[in-house]
Amino acid sequence: MFEDVKKQMLEYALKMDHYGLIALSGGNLSARVQGPEGDLFVVTPSGMIYDEMVPEDMLVVDIDGNIVEGERKASVDTEALLYIFKNMPRVNAVIHTHQPYATGLGLVMDEIPCNLSTMANAAEGSVHVAAYGDPGSLSMGVQAVESIGDRLAVVLKHHGVISVGRDLRQALFACVYLEEAAKTVQVALSTGLPMAEMTPEQIEEAVAVFHRYGQHTLNERDAEEAAAKQ
Ligand SMILES: [Zn+2]
Repeated sequence: MFEDVKKQMLEYALKMDHYGLIALSGGNLSARVQGPEGDLFVVTPSGMIYDEMVPEDMLVVDIDGNIVEGERKASVDTEALLYIFKNMPRVNAVIHTHQPYATGLGLVMDEIPCNLSTMANAAEGSVHVAAYGDPGSLSMGVQAVESIGDRLAVVLKHHGVISVGRDLRQALFACVYLEEAAKTVQVALSTGLPMAEMTPEQIEEAVAVFHRYGQHTLNERDAEEAAAKQ
């Protein structure tokens, strides 16, 4: 079941690799899907290299982490991912990466400032840095939920990034554009000169414009957002 989601998840895992957000088997992807008796979750398997993976390697689990379908062992972060889905009803997709630039900035700052329009577009503002939670444990999910606020990404200190979205595509844009912004911030910081800041009004407009971006018509986008809120 959920073959389309499993296929898309693998495509997006390879894009994470393509954009330098993970190496080998790092990170994971997960998505909320509608089962016959409520929410189920598609999760990538533990410790498998993405470019050796097939869609059938994905697991379907219930809200308690019981495997509903799949032969593999689910991601070691499954408990943390399910905590995020449980506590963030607006979220239908979670991508976890080990992207080096955003994670690196998280070692020296508590919040990556929103100084770039693309970061406002995709992450919807500055990105907070969550306190350390052990990878593979519930605490990683707890810290992520506590720190993410209304943004679409959060840095996990000493670890990586969690991005979220109404679908996998929105979560992918958040982590890829965050990494691009983090590289640009790194260039600015390396000069040692003061960094220019965007105004709250500029950030707000850049968030709004991305809601109109892409090939969807406004009506389709509104319908999707209304459906996501139900
Ligand atoms: Zn990790």
